[in-house]
Order: sequence, then structure tokens, then C-alpha cells
Amino acid sequence: MTAGAHSAQTAGAWEPVIGLEIHVELDTATKMFCACAVTKGDPPNTHTCPVCLAHPGALPVVNQRAVEYATRIALALGCTVRPRNVFHRKNYFYPDLPKAYQISQFDEPLAVDGRFEYWVGDEKLRCRIDRVHMEEDAAKLVHAGGEAGRIAGSDYSVVDFNRGGTPLVEIVSEPEIPSPAAAREFLQQLRDLVIELAVSACVMEEGQVRWDANISVRRVGDTGLGTRTELKNMNSFRYLQQALEAEIPRQVEVLEAGGRIDQETLHFDPATGVTTPLRSKEEAHDYRYFPEPDLVPLVMDPAWVEEVRAGLPELPGARVARFMEQYGLSRADAVVLGGTGALARFYEEVVAQGVDAKLAANWTMGEYLAHLNAAGLEPGHGHATPERLAKLIRLIADGTVSTSAAKDVFAKMIEERAEPAAIVERHGLGQISDTVELEAAVARVVADNPAQVEQYRGGKQQVIGFLVGQAMKATGGRANPKLVNELLRKTLDA
Ligand SMILES: [Zn+2]
Repeated sequence: MTAGAHSAQTAGAWEPVIGLEIHVELDTATKMFCACAVTKGDPPNTHTCPVCLAHPGALPVVNQRAVEYATRIALALGCTVRPRNVFHRKNYFYPDLPKAYQISQFDEPLAVDGRFEYWVGDEKLRCRIDRVHMEEDAAKLVHAGGEAGRIAGSDYSVVDFNRGGTPLVEIVSEPEIPSPAAAREFLQQLRDLVIELAVSACVMEEGQVRWDANISVRRVGDTGLGTRTELKNMNSFRYLQQALEAEIPRQVEVLEAGGRIDQETLHFDPATGVTTPLRSKEEAHDYRYFPEPDLVPLVMDPAWVEEVRAGLPELPGARVARFMEQYGLSRADAVVLGGTGALARFYEEVVAQGVDAKLAANWTMGEYLAHLNAAGLEPGHGHATPERLAKLIRLIADGTVSTSAAKDVFAKMIEERAEPAAIVERHGLGQISDTVELEAAVARVVADNPAQVEQYRGGKQQVIGFLVGQAMKATGGRANPKLVNELLRKTLDA
């Protein structure tokens, strides 16, 4: 979908309305209501205790660090932290829930009335956040004997209680997201925000962040909401977008045929691209929420909340805006460089060495990012340090190396773990700005390419690009392209 396409709707057409509920597992040392360690990859059922196994009489105790982390998220989303909040029991039976209820929050959640600003292409969108609340994760069911670990077709299932009781934060948006592409951007940028807050690594493959989406359609101009369907427990940005894109025409078709949409949960099959009903949606009253009698209401000290607020880092949205302003970057470049903390810090360290911000942006997004991807490294790691990249950029700026030779220097800088100037010296990669030497190369190119020379002289000026390229090739990419261009024109126009 192209930028802005989601807002370019015509009257009478249908428009989608999307809302999201995002679950984030917090990176606390211990679980939400007991002292068991939060771990990944340990043998099953090695981090359990009477509390998270729901033995009779065991009492939960709230994890203060989890409250702090949840509060960080709430404040970063501009929410009002409520002075008093209450845990509720959400009753339902499932094999991964030994208590047969989940401790969650209901009508007195941690925080309400926030907003999230995100970008879709060059358009800044804003979505209200209904609430941010705390709860505990369920245990993990492992379905064995079937294909792809799905429950359908499996022979039996086992439960790993290590995950049971892990602190979770649920973020609930208002249904204000205008397109599948916008929903995807919303989630990606929200995940960046949570990572920045250092409360969760949000590893998608481990389900540390996952979401439900609800979607309805209405006529452009209508303000009410249609009946919505839900897509549950997703953790792929791409599948979410595909599922929503498949669901919109399905709903429109039903409505235009005079039918009605049933409120139900859908399953999306990425292989067929089709959404199918899974189960009808339970209503809140089905959960028989009631206040958790084993926990007192949480009274939030306003001074403590302000302390948490003061400790928030610069948030990605603000940093992107600052990068555009301070470094003159385009929106797209600012998002790549400023969207995540580690890369933003690397870029700013390069610029801090006194090199041109635009050149630094091009090299950080180009060669440096390609290197990180190829080597599987996180920004800031490896042998391409900000200092070395800045030195290389300086060599380009002062004409010591050509841009194409600089790419070679960059690669060798990592291979040989050496300073750019030393590599230029060692491998003779310096730019040739010596006119006599270049004149010889130009004369050869002119002699070797009579057809192109004739075309140029016949008025086809753009052939010069090809000839410059040949001269660059002949000098191993080391010729000063500007000088080559001048010399070529001088020779050909003579
Ligand atoms: Zn425990």
C-alpha cells in the first residue's frame, strides 16, 4: 500500500476500522506474583512454586519491578496513571491455567487515556490508547505428535509451567487505525518504543510480544462502528497485515449482500490467505471478573510516578523528529536511524566526530547496516566503530578516496581491523587526482570505445556516464570521477 492511500477514500466506499490489543512480557528477574525466576529455554517445570502452580492457600505478592515497568510503558504512551488500581480474577478454564482464573485488571486498571503517534509513509497518525493494565501470563502448552506444533492433529499435549506467572502488560488501543498497513506500522513502532524503555526485549519468535486485532468496516462518513471480528494471538507483522487485508473484502461482501457480520474470532491461514471462523466471542461477563481477594488495591504514590516519568529515555517518535530537525534528514532516513536506540546512538557518535550529517547518514544506512545484517551483529558491535567510520567519511570528503574505493576500504577496515588511512596506504586505494595519470586513462578509454565517442559527438550527451564508468574501471575505482568527467569532456569536445 502506498503512503497515504489509507486516507484517500471516496464517499460511499467502505473503510476499515482496526483496534489492537498488545501483550508484552516484561523482562523482570522474577514472576508477577511469586519469586520464581523468569527464564527462557530452561528445562520444563523447573521454575515453579506453590503460588504459580496454584496450590491451595498459596498467596500472591505483587512484583514491584513489574509495576515500575508497566508504569514506564503507560507514561511513555501519555496515559494517566490511576492513583488506585485493583487486580481482578478473570475466570476461565484452560489446561495452561492451573488456578482456572488469571489475575488481571478490569475496571480499575493501572493507567488510561493515552495516545500513540506513529508514521505511515510521510503521514503522522495518532491513535488513542484506551488502557494499559497488568496481568500474568499463562503456562505454555506443547502439542506433540502432530505437525507444526498445532493442537489439531497432535497426539497429546504437555504443559510447561515455567512461563506461568510471567508479568504481562496489555496495551489496548481505541479502534482508530485506518488500514492494515497502518496497523503494521503501529505495531512495529510500538515495539520499538517498548524496547527503548528497556522493559522487554520483545523477541517475536519467543512470543514476548503478541497481539490481537479487531476489525470492522463502515461506509466512509459514518461515525459508528460495525460489528467486529478478531484475530487472536498473532506475532508476525506480515501475517497481521495479510490477515486484515483478507478480512476487509470478506466483510464488505457479506454486508453488500445484505448479510450481517457475526462477532467471532477468526483464524488466518497464511498459506491460503483466507480467514475462517474459529469460535464465537465470549463477552466480558462470561469471565465473571471479581476483585482478587488475596491482593490489596495498589495505591500509586504520585511522587514515585513522577520519578518513573523523569527516568524515561528520549522516545523514538521524539528522536525521529529531532533527527529531521537537527540533521536535516528526510522522514524515511530519520526513521531508519532514529527508530531504534542502538543505531541512533551509533549514528550520533559518528556525527559527533565532526563529519557531515548527511554523509554519515548515507554510510550508516548503507554499508554499515548491510554489514550488520550480513554479520548478524547489533548496532555498536563489531570492528566498524563510529570513530573509524567517521575517519573514512573524512577521507571521502577531503578527496583522499573516491566513494567506490571507500566501499572497499570499509570492507577491509572490518576484515583487517585497521584504521581507514592505514588501509588506503597499505592497499594503494587513494584517489587518483593526478591529471597526467588520469589523462592517460581517459585517452585509452576514448581509443577503446569509438562507437560511444561517436554517439557523444553526435549529440547523445548521456553516453559520458558510460565513458566515465570505463575510466573508473580502468583505475580500479580510484580515479577522481569529477576530474575524469572534466578531462573526458575536454577531450571529446576538442
Ligand atoms: Zn512461582
